[in-house]
Amino acid sequence: MTSTETATLPGTPASAGAAVGPVVRVPEPLGEPPAGPAVPEDRREVEAARIAPAGSAVSARMMDTAGTPGLAKEVSDVLYATAMMAEDPSLLEAAQELVRDHGTPAPRAVYESAARFVAALQAAGGYMAERAGDVADVRDRVVAELLGVPAPGVPVLDGPSVLVAKDLAPADTATLDPATALALVTVEGGPTSHTAILARSLGIPAVVGCPGAAGLDEGTLVRVDGTVGEVVEVPAGTAVGADLAAAGPTSVAGPVTTTDGRRIAIVANIADAKDAARAAGVGAEGVGLLRTELTFLSAATEPTAQDQRAGYAATMAPLAGRPITLRTLDAGADKPVPFLNMAPEVNPALGVRGQRVFDEVSAAPDRASVLDRQLAAAVGGAADAGVELKVMAPMISTADEARRFVARARAAGVDQVGVMIEVPAAVLNAPELLAEVDFVSVGTNDLTQYVFAADRQSGPLAAFNDPWQPAVLRLLDQLCRAAEITGTPVGVCGEAAADPALAVVLVGLGVTSLSAAASALPAVAARVASVDLATAQRAARVAVAARDVASARAAVRDVLG
Ligand code: PEP
Ligand code: MG
Repeated sequence: MTSTETATLPGTPASAGAAVGPVVRVPEPLGEPPAGPAVPEDRREVEAARIAPAGSAVSARMMDTAGTPGLAKEVSDVLYATAMMAEDPSLLEAAQELVRDHGTPAPRAVYESAARFVAALQAAGGYMAERAGDVADVRDRVVAELLGVPAPGVPVLDGPSVLVAKDLAPADTATLDPATALALVTVEGGPTSHTAILARSLGIPAVVGCPGAAGLDEGTLVRVDGTVGEVVEVPAGTAVGADLAAAGPTSVAGPVTTTDGRRIAIVANIADAKDAARAAGVGAEGVGLLRTELTFLSAATEPTAQDQRAGYAATMAPLAGRPITLRTLDAGADKPVPFLNMAPEVNPALGVRGQRVFDEVSAAPDRASVLDRQLAAAVGGAADAGVELKVMAPMISTADEARRFVARARAAGVDQVGVMIEVPAAVLNAPELLAEVDFVSVGTNDLTQYVFAADRQSGPLAAFNDPWQPAVLRLLDQLCRAAEITGTPVGVCGEAAADPALAVVLVGLGVTSLSAAASALPAVAARVASVDLATAQRAARVAVAARDVASARAAVRDVLG
């Protein structure tokens, strides 16, 4: 194939870096298999007899993969355990009975009998409840086998690959191994979706909102450029692996200041101990956003106080001695937390989410105390790990909400308490709200989606969710002016802080702490350290005055050269 024949598929850049590899397609989740029509009586034995071989086939395939040389031991242990489940007689026999007694089609019978197991495990709670997800995974694989369609979810990769999916659940992305998942491409999704954020935290190049990727065949060799946001087919024989040609600085040369001495904290967004180790590895000065909800996403019951404390301590330990800003549980909308049993809402992004789940005024009575237990565990975990703890609440809109949160955090023994600025009302209420807190941190991802009324997960609306939007920068400007008066430090922990040129704009607006995935920090630190404050302020002025994203980028490029 010559370069002129090569198809370039444009998308949205979501995680910087580039890699070449063969496409592995991620099958879409299966829906519920149809409940009918009923199998005629004289065919029920034959239909029931399909179930055990399907379970064995799934089990054999998983055993095979579990034995792949070089697979991490934890991964192969999980695969062996799950493979055994696929042949569990009690699961398969219950399904066979449904076929024989009621004429339920085999795929549906497996689905229904597994549902009973899942419900029983969830009711048992604790460790048993955590196995419910594994049963659901086995169920979907056996159902897929019976239907003759590919198994759902991210396949186990037996070599370096480029994953191509319609979209990926955060849980799927979190388990990816950068050694084999060289790059990610999603047909849907925006740059601030949690899948994109996780890809950045793992340092996996990613392109999202790439409609052309829907037509890529399994095995096609492609180059994914997550910095530019494009996928290109490359000739067979092109070397597979990370493309390090454009690699920039690899660590933060701190403490970081502008050339004339304005101190800017360069801190990391993390969710677990692995992220923390990466943050320590690049020389992050601490953590500007510890997202705690990601560890709650798969919990069927509230983790115990001891488990939470131990979990926080383990996450914080790699950064002992550095300050860590922990965000309390941000549940709801795109981050469902099963054990909170939140009632379905028509507009969950505009519903009881974030701090609203726990605030005395809006919370269901049995939920408010979940926050107090989390705060106590955070204080304990930070003491165990030897870090300086700050906490902040997500999705705050008013000064009263901020005051109630600050009171509860102080009662738990937290000294430095802040809130996130993610709702436009919080900016409009800044003079009163800032007076209640020790610091604020701007979540530009949510702030942008709420300013534009454009879901951050939406592919078609991805252009609205661009962190360079002047409308968002104008709000930040207004916030920083109010913060100058109250003397409140303003940080940014949304994805805007991960873009080196935009980071300079933020510094020019008055932001003094930039928090982003570890992989983004070295380039951000180097850019900030290369300018003086007056240049950053000029960049901020032209960006705020621009009519749209493209002119904001161009005007800042002119200023920064
Ligand atoms: C944000 O909204 O910008 C933010 C940092 O929080 P999250 O992405 O976790 O919603
Ligand atoms: Mg947010």
